[in-house]
Amino acid sequence: MHEMTIVSNILNIVLETGKENNLSVINRIKVKVGKQHHLAPDLMTYAFEYLKKGTIAAPAVLEVEKVPVSLLCRNCSSSFTVEDSNYICPFCGSVQWEMVSGRELTIETIEGER
Ligand SMILES: [Zn+2]
Repeated sequence: MHEMTIVSNILNIVLETGKENNLSVINRIKVKVGKQHHLAPDLMTYAFEYLKKGTIAAPAVLEVEKVPVSLLCRNCSSSFTVEDSNYICPFCGSVQWEMVSGRELTIETIEGER
């Protein structure tokens, strides 16, 4: 399960950050995930519930914010959002584009207590 690996990496960073900041407990973690990663939020939650056991993040809630895939057309300079894996420019039909957003995988917030 792809989500298990990703969430495991996120949790490692969170726990490391918690340690550096002398946190005794972590209550909330917010992550931003680009849709290009094709990660299912419910599977991420499932993986998190499993992995967090026995760590200082055990009481934590994982919030996943999905970022749409946005492309900038190289042919007509229009920007558009990808829906249903349709990567063709709706304005000119070109498939030459740059990805503006959608590849994000960042930890936005870590909340805890000392
Ligand atoms: Zn175009």
